[in-house]
Amino acid sequence: MVQRIVIENCAIATVDAADTEYADGYVVVADNRIESLGAGRAPEGLENVVRRIDATGHLVTPGLVNTHHHFYQWITRGLATDNNLFDWLVALYPTWARIDERMTYAAAQGSLGMMARGGVTTAMDHHYVFPKGSGDLSGSIIRAARETGVRFTLARGSMDRGEKDGGLPPDFAVETLEGALAATEATVDEHHDASFGAMTQVAVAPCSPFSVSTELMRQGAVLARRKGVRLHTHGSETVEEEQFCKELFGMGPTDYFESTGWLGEDVWMAHCVHMNDSDIAAFARTRTGVAHCPSSNARLAAGIARVPDMLAAGVPVGLGVDGTASNESGELHTELRNALLINRLGAHREAALTARQALRLGTYGGAQVLGRAPEIGSLEPGKLADLVLWKLDTLAHASIADPVAALVLGAAAPVTASFVGGEQIVENGRLLHVDEDAIARSTRDEARRLARIVARA
Ligand SMILES: [Zn+2]
Repeated sequence: MVQRIVIENCAIATVDAADTEYADGYVVVADNRIESLGAGRAPEGLENVVRRIDATGHLVTPGLVNTHHHFYQWITRGLATDNNLFDWLVALYPTWARIDERMTYAAAQGSLGMMARGGVTTAMDHHYVFPKGSGDLSGSIIRAARETGVRFTLARGSMDRGEKDGGLPPDFAVETLEGALAATEATVDEHHDASFGAMTQVAVAPCSPFSVSTELMRQGAVLARRKGVRLHTHGSETVEEEQFCKELFGMGPTDYFESTGWLGEDVWMAHCVHMNDSDIAAFARTRTGVAHCPSSNARLAAGIARVPDMLAAGVPVGLGVDGTASNESGELHTELRNALLINRLGAHREAALTARQALRLGTYGGAQVLGRAPEIGSLEPGKLADLVLWKLDTLAHASIADPVAALVLGAAAPVTASFVGGEQIVENGRLLHVDEDAIARSTRDEARRLARIVARA
């Protein structure tokens, strides 16, 4: 028998195609889906209402969707804080190459918990460091996502271009081409769920042009298409990467991606900061998606991605926290604000992004780039009930007239409740299914254990 939850007396930003909003409205959730929503009170006579939430003073939005992250970095935060990307990577690779399953599990719990408390209902982890003998890292990350209750995509990463092959990572931190491909395929076979409402999906995700062989890029794309899963990697992040591509491949990153099968509507790419007009046109023509990571780009002095130009051209764009070694806060809801502010420092100035476009990047745009727009990313009847109640009637926000502006431009808004497929995962800013204090302790312990192992090496 269907069970209903009624949420009433709230402002609603649906982020549907028309950006429909209700100043005072209701949402009816039936099992794992949104059944109806609109202005005023919920319809009379609904049966099997198991819960009625008076959401006075709240804004209800779709749950936030994070499109780029590296969970393991949760235990290597606050290091190399004044470097650009390449120097920062070279400083951190030796530490990262010593992670094990207990560490990736704790770090995933920390990363997921922090995002979920801040309104993320769909997360992803681009994990690409698989030291020999380190255990079932992918399984440990997926377990942490299941326990937290967040919808999840594991982007099974890989690196096979070590220093001896002209790459950036040390040789001991990389896999072989054959090993990486076989392990990626096994992860897809074991964990990918293609069904509507899936809680776990897997993408094929070689790390970046400067850490992956051309053959792994090519064969990774072939593998992903044979399996019907999505493709993810880093692209056009810094000027140094552009130079690297020109020297090694005789072309810029976008042309290199196209030559290896890495543009397409099943691909999304992190950063895309250094894109010229023809790069943006190629992304638009092929419907290749972008994970925009404004805080990380600022932290590593990478530059300002041309998000307004991408949106105008029709490129799907979502938001990403990126790894927390380059964005220590680990929160996505603050990226709405940072995306708006940073893009207004770019070429388009005050016309760069509106508050509503920023909210769209963090919700529907994210659903698009993860290939899940028919299921999540907007509040519409028939879609999954992934939604967040933001509390906007306290000191921080009560005097801001426009609730969407309050959410995007104001202080980080507290989450009163967050639902994934109708299942509540956060209440009054606390995680419901896992013990936050225990996670804080285990992440601290694992960070210290890793630091001790590195110090001994
Ligand atoms: Zn990244």
